[in-house]
Amino acid sequence: MSQPAFGKMLQQLVDLGVIELQTKPLDDQIERRLKKFWEQAPCPECGDPSIQTWPSSNRVICRSCGFKPVCTYGTPFHEKHLTTGEVLLAFILYADTLLSISKIATLLDRAYKTVYYAIREVEAAVQRGFPVVWNQFQQEIDGPVQIDESSSVCSGYKGQDPPRDSRHRGGSSRSGRSRWRGRHGDQITLVAACRDVLRVVHGQLGISYETDLDPVIQEAEDLSQPLGEVWTDGLQAYRQMEYTHQIVVHDETYVSPDGVHINQVECLFSLIKPWLRKFRGLSKHGLEQAAHTFGIIRSLNLAGASLVSVIDCLAMGAFPSST
Ligand SMILES: [Zn+2]
Repeated sequence: MSQPAFGKMLQQLVDLGVIELQTKPLDDQIERRLKKFWEQAPCPECGDPSIQTWPSSNRVICRSCGFKPVCTYGTPFHEKHLTTGEVLLAFILYADTLLSISKIATLLDRAYKTVYYAIREVEAAVQRGFPVVWNQFQQEIDGPVQIDESSSVCSGYKGQDPPRDSRHRGGSSRSGRSRWRGRHGDQITLVAACRDVLRVVHGQLGISYETDLDPVIQEAEDLSQPLGEVWTDGLQAYRQMEYTHQIVVHDETYVSPDGVHINQVECLFSLIKPWLRKFRGLSKHGLEQAAHTFGIIRSLNLAGASLVSVIDCLAMGAFPSST
């Protein structure tokens, strides 16, 4: 068995008991937030909107039918071999750092699968809840939407092939794309939109030269209406003519005399690529989901959102009927 490149000394520190996680403050914060959502949510058993909570108990009770679940019921925090704080900590380390899931499991001193499934569940809930939480920020998002696609490899990259920087000037149909090669089927094509502090990232498995930009533009519009100008590169402009205004850029680093460019998207790609490389073992479905998560967390960070907003996304995603 090959030795991991990183993490052996980290494991020793954990084994020595040097790293002891104190998640109590986070556990408490999560409980308070979840209770707030319960107070506004209908009872999952009878639909009655009369759930009562108490600061002294982690249970909530329906005054109508007597249903008395713990406040984590129905959320990704429920019945895990992790505390609520550990569940959220694992997700934050996953989404907001370059630590791999196996290193996160090491740090938490928990089984890989336990951590992996907890992260995946939180991630799905955060994605469901994000649009509502984002709209509640009520911040002004305007300016052009920069949009571009990029081919990139993640899970399939096994380290055999260094990235081939294939910058062909002129002549080539695709200029300036650097491509990582991995096992067949493991490549992912990213499409991203940047508008002010909003970042929308979609991943599509495989290498695509006919990527559909519409879903990303649509999501950017939903999260920052009205849409306004769309800036893209020359290749896309020939295929996408239906939006208000399409401005052509010839190269990723190019700025037109009018100041039109897609540098923000290029910058985003340069951040997401090393982040995605930590997911070598993930399922293909996981990769697409991960790409989307990156956009969400990046948007929240750029908007100056706090950790609480991540809990809110998660609770919103778990209590879809609450507002
Ligand atoms: Zn009830």
